[in-house]
Formats: sequence, structure tokens, C-alpha cells
Amino acid sequence: MAVAPERTRLTWDYSPAPESADHVRLRDAYGVFVGGEFADPRSGKSAPTVNPATEAKIAKVAIAGEEDVAHAVKVAREAQRKWAALPALERGKYLFRIARLMQERARELAIVETMDGGKPIRESRDIDIPLAAAHFFHYAGWADKIGYGIAGREHRPHGVVAQIVPWNFPLLMAAWKLAPALACGNAAILKPADTTPLTALLLAEICQEAELPPGVVSILPGNGATGAALVRAEGIDKVAFTGSTAVGKDIQAALAGRDVGLTLELGGKSANIIFEDASIDQAVEGIVQGIFFNQGHVCCAGSRLLVQESVAEQVEAKLWERMQKLRLGDPLDKNTDVGAVNSGEQLTRIETLVAAGEDEGATRRTVACDIPERGHWFAPTLFTDVSPVHRIAVEEIFGPVVSMLTFRTQAEAIEKANNSKYGLAAGIWTDKGGKAFEVAAQLQAGVVWQNTYNHFDPTAAFGGYKESGFGREGGAAGLRPYVRVS
Ligand code: NAD
Ligand code: MG
Repeated sequence: MAVAPERTRLTWDYSPAPESADHVRLRDAYGVFVGGEFADPRSGKSAPTVNPATEAKIAKVAIAGEEDVAHAVKVAREAQRKWAALPALERGKYLFRIARLMQERARELAIVETMDGGKPIRESRDIDIPLAAAHFFHYAGWADKIGYGIAGREHRPHGVVAQIVPWNFPLLMAAWKLAPALACGNAAILKPADTTPLTALLLAEICQEAELPPGVVSILPGNGATGAALVRAEGIDKVAFTGSTAVGKDIQAALAGRDVGLTLELGGKSANIIFEDASIDQAVEGIVQGIFFNQGHVCCAGSRLLVQESVAEQVEAKLWERMQKLRLGDPLDKNTDVGAVNSGEQLTRIETLVAAGEDEGATRRTVACDIPERGHWFAPTLFTDVSPVHRIAVEEIFGPVVSMLTFRTQAEAIEKANNSKYGLAAGIWTDKGGKAFEVAAQLQAGVVWQNTYNHFDPTAAFGGYKESGFGREGGAAGLRPYVRVS
């Protein structure tokens, strides 16, 4: 008689699946990009940009100073007149070209984004880069239809616009800024973030390849001092800033009394609200997507989890189980869910706030992962027993840390969600469409997602309430900040 083979227990694991960076061709050093050419910075300063997963230096990058800013403004002013005088359809063609070149170089851009910033390749490949190209496609289409986008009013471009972006979505934020500015006939000077300048510099090469008229786009890499010089420069007509609320306030003060347009996209502490009638498994995926996407370095991250009391225990158990399946490690590995924290400085910020959460009496659980020896890492963390006054419920952590609170009624959910100085985004998980609309209408948040989270589209406007800023990016609404209407 044949004996049935003994069934062995299988432990399923992933083999490493690293994306090869072999074909990436970066220069050893990057200067400033002004007048369609790269040049050494007049400041004479530069600093290496580092891979936060390995702490390896990738390339030397200029730190533009005041003289670089002044020169870029002068060059942009000249270029802007000709750019605005082009038929709008022609401007649109350049944007289409840039979008197509971004698609052609998508793989390279994704790898460089991951190397420079630490985000998982799965995200840079499937989200950052395709969305950045989509923004250029979207505004390419608007270029000759701007009048329709702003209700037929008389309009003209501002002129020279200064644009400053943060490190969490480097190329995507650059695209959000540049595409509408150019479509509307402005010339733009973009300052990428200190730790992630590389994809903006590759975008400068793409502008060259697209034969964009020189001076229409300038890229000035640098630090906070570069940004401060740019917003104070003589001759700029508009500032668009994405970054922290503290710096946003500084910029607003610096521009007080000047006839310079301003839009601010700032921080957040967004509520992700789970009602008892939600599909719980789906909601748990949404919570994970809401807070662990891009290591939680997301302005609209669902960092305040509000769960209806009747399902709180169930949600907490399922969430913790799901969190333990997240894979932290090499951002270039295609199976990685949680990559490296963007910088040592950001890691310290996360650690400080997490320590405050413990000190104030919340219960902390952090997933036990193998943390790589080099680089900056923080494992996915869940806080329960959180009170609305705890720092971890009030301040933006900007890391893979979720603070769970509970509520009993719909009214209490709305009150708790709005109990924040911020108002960037919110999520609502419910089976009832009517309830979702009713709640959404009462939330002070620029974006409200229903039964999804962190979902972006170039046709949808994005922006804040309260200390999350003002002005909208994306869609027809994103044209308005880039024109003056009479
Ligand atoms: P940050 O404010 O420190 O820096 C943002 C940019 O501003 C960088 O390029 C930096 O060099 C520059 N900068 C710094 N000091 C400056 C100054 N005094 N004047 C002019 N420019 C200056 O922010 P960060 O830590 O790089 O980014 C994280 C912050 O950005 C978070 O608060 C996050 O919520 C926010 N953010 C908001 C959005 C949004 O759309 N609302 C999107 C992404 C990030
Ligand atoms: Mg870097």
C-alpha cells in the first residue's frame, strides 16, 4: 500500500528582486540650470546628495546662492516675453513633448527617484513618475483652453514664477508646479529640495531634449537659504511653495506688502474615518495605504485614524496583523513596501515624536523587522490609547506612524476630524454613499476620499484649508494661481 507523502510545512518568502541601476547615467556633478544650460554655480558652493538607504554619495550638486537667483530671474524675464507671445497651441506642444520624454525615460527617473529619496521602486515606478508625466499631458491640453478653465475671464500670465518643492515627491511636485505655470505662459524658476535634487536635474535635461526655449525653465538646486533668497528676489511675480507650515509662514511674511502672487501647500494631520458599516478588510488596506505609502512622508497621510467604537477592536487586530506583513528594506527591491526614511534629520523628528507618544501614555506597537545596518529606517508603528491632546494626535510626524482614536457617533467623528489646525485631506470608509457625502460636506479638508486613500489624478484639484495652506494644484482649478485676471 502506498504511503501518502508526509505534508511538509512551507514557509513562503520572497527572493530578492532588485531593480538594476546599471543603465542609470548620472553625472558626477550638477550645476545650476539657467538659460537652457548647466553651469557652475556663481555661489561656488555644492554638496553631495546621498542615498538614504545606503548613505552612499550619489553626485555633487550645486547650492545656488543670491547671485545665481538674480541671474536666473533676469534670464527668465527675457524668455518669458517670447514664451507668452507664442501661440498657446505651440506652448502646449512643448508640454506634450516633455511628457513623452518623461515616459521614455520613466525607468531611469524611477530608479533615480528611489536612490535619491529612499522610496520603494514600486511606488516611484507606478505612481510618482507616471503621475508626473500625466500632469504634463493634462496641462499640455489646457494650454490653448485656459479661458475655459477660468470661466472666460480676461487673463494674462504672472511673468516669472518662483517654485519651491519638498523632498517627499520630488519629480511629481516639480511637475505639479511647472506644467500649469508653463501652460499659462509663465517662465519658472524651480528650487528642488535639499536631499532630493536629482530628478529635477534630469528634468532639466528633458527640457533640453524637448528644445524648450532657453530660460523658460530654470532649476536652482540648493537649501533653505536658496529658497529664502528666491522668494525675496527682485523681479519675481509669483511664488508657489510646497513644504512645512513653518516655512510657509516665513514666506508669507517675507512677501507681505509686495504685489507677488502666493500659493502655499503645507503640512497636514489628516483624519481617516472608519465607520462601523465599512467593509473592514477594505478599510484596513486603506489605512495601510493611507499611512505607510512613501514611509508616511506624505502631506495628506491618514495619520489620525478615527475608528467607530463598535468595530475598533476588530480594526485594530486586523490592522496589526496586516502591518506585520509589510516588507521593509532595500527601496530598489520590487517587493519592498516600506523604504528608507529620507534623511537622518527626518528620522530624528520621527523618533522624537514617537518618544513623546510613549511619554504621554499612549500604547506603542512597532513591527519587528530586520533593519538594515546602514541607512535611515523606521519600522511601521501603531499607537493606541491615544487622546486628542497627545502630540502624536496633533503634530505632523511625517513618518510610518499611525495614531488610532475612537468615536461613537457621526457627529463626534466630524468634530474630532476637524479638531486640528490643519485641513488637507480626509478619508471616509462607509458602505453608505449618502453618509459619505453628508460627512464630507462637513469636513474642513481640501480633499476627501471615500473608500480609498492617497488617490491622485491630474484632473482633481488638491490643496488645503487652515494651516495646510491655500490655492489649488491640479485640474482646471490649478490654472487660476498662474494667471492674473482682470
Ligand atoms: P521644508 O518646509 O523644510 O522645505 C520645503 C522646501 O522649502 C525645501 O526645498 C527647502 O529647501 C525650502 N526652504 C526651507 N527653508 C526655506 C525658507 N526659509 N524660505 C524658502 N524656502 C525654504 O519642508 P520639508 O521638510 O522639506 O517637507 C515636508 C513638509 O512639506 C511637510 O510639512 C509636508 O506636509 C509638506 N508637504 C506638503 C504638501 C502639500 O501639497 N500640501 C506636499 C508635500 C509636502
Ligand atoms: Mg538624496
